[in-house]
Amino acid sequence: MKIVLGQDLLKANEVIARSNRAAFEASGTFVANMLGSPGSGKTTLLEAILPDLMSGLRVAVIEGDLATSRDAERIEALGVASVQINTGGGCHLDAGMVAAGFESLDLDNTDVLFIENVGNLICPAGFSLGEHRRVVVLSVTEGDDKVEKYPPMFARADAVALNKMDLLSHVKFDVKKATDHIERLNTGIRMFSVCAVTGEGTADLRRWLLDGRRSCQEHKT
Ligand code: MG
Ligand code: ZN
Repeated sequence: MKIVLGQDLLKANEVIARSNRAAFEASGTFVANMLGSPGSGKTTLLEAILPDLMSGLRVAVIEGDLATSRDAERIEALGVASVQINTGGGCHLDAGMVAAGFESLDLDNTDVLFIENVGNLICPAGFSLGEHRRVVVLSVTEGDDKVEKYPPMFARADAVALNKMDLLSHVKFDVKKATDHIERLNTGIRMFSVCAVTGEGTADLRRWLLDGRRSCQEHKT
C-alpha cells in the first residue's frame, strides 16, 4: 500500500474530525481551538478568560504539548478540568489525539471546551480537530511579518487575539499593517487586542466566544 503523506493523512484526519464534531454536538459542547507560536500567550490567555466563563458554564481544557504537563497544571490550578496530551515530538494536535483526550473528560457535563494546540504557526493550521471556532494568538513581540510568512494559520482562523499589547511601544510591530494583512487573507475575521497578563481586552474575546456558542446552539438541527 502506498501512503501519500500529506493528502491521505489529512483526509484521515478529516474523518475523525467529523466524528469529534458529532460528539461535541451530541453533548452540546462548544469547542475552541487555540493556536499560535510557543510563547505567544495561549495558556495565559486561557487563564485570563476561564475564571469569568466558569461562573455559569462548565469549562474544560485539552492541552497539547510535546512534553511536560505544565500547562495542564496551570489550568487545573484554576479548578478547571484539564487533560494533557503529550505528542512526544509531534508538532501539532490531530483529531485522533483530541478524540483520545476527550475520552477522559465528561463531555456531557462540559459546555465549553478549549483545545490549546502545540505552539506552532505552521501545520496545526491544516488539522481540523472538529472545533467550532479557531483563535490564533499572535503576540506583538513576534513581529508583524509573521502574518505574511505563515498565511494559512491566519487564513483559516475565525479570530486573532493580538496579545502583549502592553509591550507594543517596546517592539517593532505595525498593528495596522498586520491587521490589514490578516483581513486581506481572511475577510470577516475578528480581531481582538489583548493583554493576557493583565486581562485587558480579554472580555471582548470572551463575549465573542459566548456569542459563537449561542449561534452554534441555535443552528443545531
Ligand atoms: Mg501553553
Ligand atoms: Zn505538525
